[in-house]
Parts: sequence; C-alpha cells; structure tokens
Amino acid sequence: MAQVKYVFVTGGVTSSLGKGIISASLGKLLVARGLRVTIQKFDPYINIDPGTLNPYEHGECYVTEDGAETDLDLGHYERFLAANTSQKNNVTTGRIYNNVITKEREGEYLGKTVQVIPHITDEIKRNFLALGHNGDFDIIITEIGGSVGDIESLPFIEAIRQTKWDLGHENCIVIHLTLIPYLKAVGELKTKPTQHSVKRLLESGIQPDILVCRSERAINNDIRKKLALFCNVPINSVISSIDAKTIYDVPLLMRKEKLDERVMEIFQLPIGEEPDLENWKEFLTRLKNPTKEVNIALVGKYVELHDAYKSIAESLIHGGARNECKVNVSWVSSEEIENENVEELLGGHDGILIAPGFGERGIEGKITAAKYARETKIPFFGICLGLQVAVIEFGRNVLGYKQAASTEISPNTKDPIIDLMEEQKKITKKGGTMRLGAYSCRLKEGTKVYKLYKSEEISERHRHRYEFNNEYLEKFESKGMVAAGINPDSNLVEIMELKSHPWYIGTQFHPELKSRVVEPHPLFVGFVKAAVDHRIKKEKNKS
Ligand code: GLN
Repeated sequence: MAQVKYVFVTGGVTSSLGKGIISASLGKLLVARGLRVTIQKFDPYINIDPGTLNPYEHGECYVTEDGAETDLDLGHYERFLAANTSQKNNVTTGRIYNNVITKEREGEYLGKTVQVIPHITDEIKRNFLALGHNGDFDIIITEIGGSVGDIESLPFIEAIRQTKWDLGHENCIVIHLTLIPYLKAVGELKTKPTQHSVKRLLESGIQPDILVCRSERAINNDIRKKLALFCNVPINSVISSIDAKTIYDVPLLMRKEKLDERVMEIFQLPIGEEPDLENWKEFLTRLKNPTKEVNIALVGKYVELHDAYKSIAESLIHGGARNECKVNVSWVSSEEIENENVEELLGGHDGILIAPGFGERGIEGKITAAKYARETKIPFFGICLGLQVAVIEFGRNVLGYKQAASTEISPNTKDPIIDLMEEQKKITKKGGTMRLGAYSCRLKEGTKVYKLYKSEEISERHRHRYEFNNEYLEKFESKGMVAAGINPDSNLVEIMELKSHPWYIGTQFHPELKSRVVEPHPLFVGFVKAAVDHRIKKEKNKS
C-alpha cells in the first residue's frame, strides 16, 4: 500500500481566515487531479462534539451519513469534494480526553502517570492517522481549529510536530494560513503579524512548508520575497489568497497560485495533467451569469448569525445556479412575525423557507408564516421544524384541531400532532441521542417530490427527536396534505406535501446536508424553480 500523505492546515494572526475553504479548495484541486482525498477537522474545545452547542456560538451543526454531529466546515468539505465524511472526520479535544480517560479507567495505562505528553498527544496522533489505515485515501488534509498560539491548541500542534517527525517531510506538510493586513494610512501590506505567527510555530518545533496569505489586495513580489526570507520558505511556497467574491472562486484562485502543484512537488507525486475542473467552471459560469432572480425569505430564529443556516444558504446558491437564477435571501426573524405584519414581512417574496430549530421561541411566528404561504400560494419549503410547524398549522386551521401542537412545546396538548418518537421516550442524555444520520425514505408516485428526485427510494439525513403522529395521517390526507415520503422500515412520515398548492413541501430530514456544488439537491433546484415560476406569474398578473 502506498504511503498516505498528510497535509495539516493551521491558522495564525486571527481566526475566521477561512481555513475550511482553503482546505476544501486544496482538496478539490487534488481530487480533480485524480487523487483520493478526505478532509478532517480537529477542534480544540472540550465538548465531545458540537451537537450540544448553541448555533449562535458555533454556527450550524453539520450531520454526516453515519449520524455524527460535526463542525460546519465538514459541510464545506462535502460540498466541495462531493464526497461523504464520517464521525472520524471531526475530532475535538473533548473526544481525545474522553478516550484517554476511558482507557485509564479500563486499566490500559496501569502503573503509568497519564499525561498530556505522551498520552494525549499519542491519542491525537492515532486519530490524525485513523482514516489512512484502509487504503481509501492518497492524501488526508487535517484542518486544525483555532489559531496557533492559543493555549488550548498546544497539544494538537505538538502532535503535528511529532507526526512530521514520524512520517518525514515528504509525507507530512504544514500549510499555515495567515493574514497580511493592509494599512490604509501608509498604503502598505504588512508582513510582521505573519512573521510573528510563524515564529510561534517555530517555537513549537514546526517549520511551515507553505504559507497561504489572506489579504484584501494582491501581494506583490517584494512582499513574497520578504515573507520567504523571514519565514524560511521558498518563494513559490508563498501563496496569495486574495478576498474572493464567492467562496466557490477559491479553488480556481488556488490553482492560479499553484497551491496544488506545490503540495504535490513536496510530496514527490507526479504532477501530470491539468486538474479537471470543467463541472466546477460550468457551475461558476451559471452562478455568475444569472438570467433571472428571486427573493426568498428564510424564516428562522438564529437569523443574526448566518452561519447558523450555512448549508441551507449554500444549497440555495447551488439550486439557484442550476436555474441560472440569482437567489436573494432575506433573513426573517420568526419572533417578529405576527398576523398583523406577516404580509409586510413576507409578501414581497417568491418563496418562503422555514428553517430547522429547537424549543418554543419563535414557533408561533413560524406557524403564521406557514399559514401565509399556504393561503397565498407562495412556494413553501419547510425543513425539519419547518415541516412540523406546517402540519401544526394545517391541523389547527384546516382540520380544526384547535390545540394542535408539538409535545416539544406543549407536552400536555390534546392534539399532539407532532410527538416524541417512541425510541426517544426513555432518553435523558442530550449529546448524540437524537435520530441522527441517513435513513431511507420511499416516495409516493405522482407527488411533486417523486418527480423531483426521479426515484422511488431515497436516503436523507436527520437530526430530530419529534415526528409526525401517524394517528392523524388519514385526516390530513383526506384534506389534501399527503405523506409523500415514508420511511419503509419504521413508517415514519418523512415528507408532507400539499396537493392544491404550486409548491408546498415539508421534509422531516435535512436535504441541505446533501447538496453539492456540482450536484445540487433536487429539492433546492425545484424550490428555486417554483419561486421563478411564482415570480413570472406575479409579474404577468400585474401587467
Ligand atoms: N425540534 C424538532 C425536533 O426535535 C425539530 C428539529 C430540527 O428542526 N432539526 O424534532
């Protein structure tokens, strides 16, 4: 078996430089050269996984096929590479310590004092290499969360130093992503913060192999020379990463800077032909040359932080590009929506999407939005909680169940139209205990979703505890809200669809987790198309 090559991506100077996008872009270029690549993220916080984190703190929680609750960067990896990740692709300090402490209790270190070095670092190293054992990958990219110099990332940095030593330079490299700030007053780009950040890495025994320099202006040759000189890297390993209009430009920008070639050269891999980026470029052409536009209202309760709905926002971009349509998203706070202002807040839109969520806050506003979409025939897309509020609304206002509710919010309601799943009833722990990951779903012939997926059996990812209560199904179907998708094993309703509406679809699963740049999700493509049709109709009626 050929030696697996490891790329570590660290960040310096400041956070939010886009390590995830750089990692995903490098991954994309290497895949386009025919290499087998996966990307993993190591996060320095103590939570076992981000499943218990408030989206306000950390953005959305991304869910993999195997049901791992992970960092949102894994979404970028999957969208860019069009490949699945798994539990193994996201490891936190919490998980590392948990493993070590479990081993200690099992007596594995008997007699030894368990310490950060070597026990924690050994466990980190074991996890760094874990995906490399089955011969599935040629290159494994590991993004390290946080910035170099943070106290909490020190064990990761030490583990990288050791891994580099164990595997050798030609099998293990470090790419350091830094910021080159532009000082307006003097009209200059400044390299000093990067020099300091590289010194920090050197103090920990790591010489970065490649520098990727984020800046708002292009860095010229003098700056490259200076960085090369002070940071001990060859000049062609100083890569400029200028602010891009869209994250989807970054792979092409990195190609221009030859980041992929540099990595392959150091790894002594044959460079071969140009990477095949045809599909990617076609996507970009469509994205940048829209022939129409639509306004979509994204109704949620975490709207101040757009990262909380990252995958939905990206899926709308993918679906828009496929339709050659610019999608303008207005972020509408569900807490503000009331009967009196719903027309004003949502009226101008060509589509309404109700986002996933937990708990009571903002739920009545979401129900009002669902009612408005149903009555005005604006295309409606409800995801997870978005489906749940749509059926509650239908239950209350069409079927006459005045107390229709979810037991998540009203545990003693007379009409528990959304109720806790049987297997959830005994669960008390919060972390990793929802219905998580991929489940199959059978679609009903003749429904809109059946036409969109062009398939009878699909598989989608879940993250919820509550479900549609099947005792009410007959009543719903008799009035035109049909179960268009059902889990063939458990009979759980996975999709509801309103017959007498141009496009009113709610899914219990999260389709946004499976949309890829070159394979947009059929429901997002369909939703944007419905919004386009709605807009055309609206304009016709006006004239
Ligand atoms: N809170 C709801 C449930 O647990 C919906 C979850 C979601 O939207 N992801 O079922």
